[in-house]
Amino acid sequence: MSLLIKNGRVVDPANSMDAEQDVLISGARIERIGPDLPLAADTTVLDATGKIVCPGFIDIHVHLREPGYEYKETVATGTRAAAAGGFTAVCCMANTQPVNDNRSITDYIRAKAAVEGIVRVYPIGAVTRGLGGEELAELAELAEAGCVAFSDDGRCVMNAALYRRAMEYTLPFGAPIISHAEDHELSRGTAMNEGVVSTELGVPGAPAAAEDIMVARDILLAELTGAHVHIAHLSTAGAVRLVRDAKARGIRVTAEVTPHHLLLTEDAVRAFDANAKMSPPLRSKRDTEVLLEALVDGTIDCIATDHAPHAGSEKEGEFDRAAFGIIGLETAVGLLLDRLGRPGALPLGTLISRLSRDPARLLRLPGGSLAPGAAADLTLIDPGAEWTVDPAKFASKSRNTPFGGWSVTGRPWKTIVGGSIVWE
Ligand SMILES: [Zn+2]
Repeated sequence: MSLLIKNGRVVDPANSMDAEQDVLISGARIERIGPDLPLAADTTVLDATGKIVCPGFIDIHVHLREPGYEYKETVATGTRAAAAGGFTAVCCMANTQPVNDNRSITDYIRAKAAVEGIVRVYPIGAVTRGLGGEELAELAELAEAGCVAFSDDGRCVMNAALYRRAMEYTLPFGAPIISHAEDHELSRGTAMNEGVVSTELGVPGAPAAAEDIMVARDILLAELTGAHVHIAHLSTAGAVRLVRDAKARGIRVTAEVTPHHLLLTEDAVRAFDANAKMSPPLRSKRDTEVLLEALVDGTIDCIATDHAPHAGSEKEGEFDRAAFGIIGLETAVGLLLDRLGRPGALPLGTLISRLSRDPARLLRLPGGSLAPGAAADLTLIDPGAEWTVDPAKFASKSRNTPFGGWSVTGRPWKTIVGGSIVWE
């Protein structure tokens, strides 16, 4: 079975390609790329004139909520949301119930993904047992079971000695430790960024230093141990500076940024919409500018959504008490294309690289390239499609997004995993 994608603009940063080309898929693999490829028998043709053809997008920071919180999201609905958003692979965080801190949970998630998932799912194992921050999880067992990284995301491992041991312990597996960098003492009881807006609103705010302190600590621990530390959802100018300096000194640190930390500021909290509440919080305009600059120059390695589904009831009521986090899989690509790509703030090739080649490299995942022989995971984009974000139409089980009603130009057109169109 073959699929020939004709006349698309192929943008494949891993192979320095940006040109009108045909892509021939044979079975589950890329067979050939070139101009005007001949049409063989039993080949389906897909006319991609005017569309952009990219390596499949990979989101390394997703909460699929299964097992334990199936009312928020499941592997089935979360992977459908991913496919609808143009993602062909996701990495899922360990803060399920029970926590993914031992092989039986990893096996469970992988089995669910194999049967009910429509994109690739790579579990991330917990660093500490039950995310309790007190004793290490079964790290070797988790790596063996297929976890691609370790993280207590949602919480910061506050005990530096324990975190150091985790880094040393995981060195032989080569899987990075992903840090949710937040000093919980500095951020205790807060619901937004600390600054003029929090003062005006009378909402308790967390200072940027709550993040910066832990980013600095984790860089020092990476230097001490030689481990690869990846900083999740970087949100402050100070943290960018720390990562930039650390990279210049050759320390193995990488970082991601979310679409919402690029596109929204603390001003969004003025409406007291709980969909403007996340951890880390939305920061200042200046922070968003520094984050974008760092994403363009490569200080920040990739884009990840931190897709965090919550039920409506968990986002209602007082702002101070609402749950942290928003969903992002189905809005990320369109918003980034429209708000950053179209005005030229983020070059298209860089945007695609930060969604495909770079996350694949970072976690040593297959994909991120359209080289012949690679898995046929592709994201096809319609750059001219005009649409309005309507949460009621999401494939996700949850609706917690601050982007409802936004008008957007550009969106995923088709999502192909292993040679099969899984969403269109
Ligand atoms: Zn987090």
